[in-house]
Amino acid sequence: MLHVAIVGAGPAGFYTAEALAKRLGTVAIDIIDRLPTPYGLIRAGVAPDHQSIKAVDRRYQAVLAGGVRFVGNVEIGEDGVSIGELTGLYDAVVLATGAPRDRPLGIPGEDLPGVLGSAAFVGWYNGHPDFADLDVPLGQAGACVIGNGNVAIDVARLLAKTSTELAASDIARHARTALAASAVRDIHLIGRRGPYQASFTPKEMGELGLLERAQPKVDAADLPDAAGDAALDPGLRKVVGHLRSFAAAPWAGKPIAIDFDFLTRPVAIERHGDALRLIVEATRLDGDVAVGTGTMRSIDCGLIVGCIGYRTAEIPGVPFDTARGRFVNDNGHIAPGLYVTGWARRGPSGTIGTNRPDGGEVAEEIATEISPGSRAGGGGLDALLAARAIRPVTFAGWQAIDAAEIAAATHPAPRDKHVTRAALLAAADGGCAGGTTPL
Ligand code: NAP
Repeated sequence: MLHVAIVGAGPAGFYTAEALAKRLGTVAIDIIDRLPTPYGLIRAGVAPDHQSIKAVDRRYQAVLAGGVRFVGNVEIGEDGVSIGELTGLYDAVVLATGAPRDRPLGIPGEDLPGVLGSAAFVGWYNGHPDFADLDVPLGQAGACVIGNGNVAIDVARLLAKTSTELAASDIARHARTALAASAVRDIHLIGRRGPYQASFTPKEMGELGLLERAQPKVDAADLPDAAGDAALDPGLRKVVGHLRSFAAAPWAGKPIAIDFDFLTRPVAIERHGDALRLIVEATRLDGDVAVGTGTMRSIDCGLIVGCIGYRTAEIPGVPFDTARGRFVNDNGHIAPGLYVTGWARRGPSGTIGTNRPDGGEVAEEIATEISPGSRAGGGGLDALLAARAIRPVTFAGWQAIDAAEIAAATHPAPRDKHVTRAALLAAADGGCAGGTTPL
């Protein structure tokens, strides 16, 4: 029997497990995660008002129901089990740890209170235990969202939505309460390049035109000549179409504006009384590259969220490409028996589904390159964890958490998330015996 450990219980990990089980038939797979909950970005990254995207978790649940073990609440790295120990226990180890760290803005003032990265801000509204206590200042009218990708749209939309619009979401209760009392009225979406270079997708862009109390604001002068639209790829053409209709729409007097500041790059952040001041520079395009023009202005705000991409978290003992922010790998190979898939392999791009072919590829490599040895596999991991008094959360434990969150929800919300490790572990234990493995 081949013993495989997959580190990271997000989409990349589940697609790998699914493909491996299908390819090999008989294989023992453990999916290990540092959180007590599975599903990675589906639970803690995908916007809480995008429930249809989150429904893919049923497919991952079927993987666990089919015999793949979930080993939650176990850190691979310095504080739990080392990568060397893991590779000693399993025939193959796949890192599917994603890219949970924010890329720094690299400008003065980015460490000031009120300046957040999207990993932190998105984690906060999605109930990620690492960010439950995040200080999110929502007391000023201005808020700046830096970046022109889908995460920036998610963040702007969540800042703009009413409590009623979020009622059927699984937003963390603390975030829903804080956002309901928010004073934010002027949301600036800062893009260093132009509309043709934006990374938005059409559905997400279209949603901005349908908000109850917010309206997107686009300056027609920022839009390139419409004659160029025909040459765009179809998705971007639709995005630009939305921008053109936003620019043409009369101002409806809604209380919140989502202002698209194209060709604008952040250069510094300063404290300004009890608020912040974002200093930006107008840019122009040299080909596809944004270059500064020297024309500066400032935007007063209470909150700045950088949505400029992510980095993988380093694991001691695994070679890391600091410039690219991911593990050094050759088509998914890190070292004999050690593989990587998903964002930790290729960087933070693509949709949830992009991880599926990645998972298939690494499963095929393992199936053809690795033969069953005499490794201890999951039994060995269990013994190691017991010796270290680390209590893993099992699939049954996750089901108990899931049931408790669903039971606590107020209709039409699908669940009321537990947002601290303590609450999650208590729910895993309390809901059913064997939720966490007894010592
Ligand atoms: P992204 O699509 O790569 O967008 C990052 C944005 O940040 C770009 O506009 C980039 O501008 C800008 N940027 C980078 N460095 C910057 C800097 N130093 N200063 C100013 N701007 C900077 O990344 P993302 O929005 O984090 O999304 C990650 C992936 O998840 C994407 O594939 C996205 O489509 C996906 N996602 C999908 C959904 C959905 O389908 N609903 C939702 C969320 C995320 P340049 O282009 O100039 O580099």
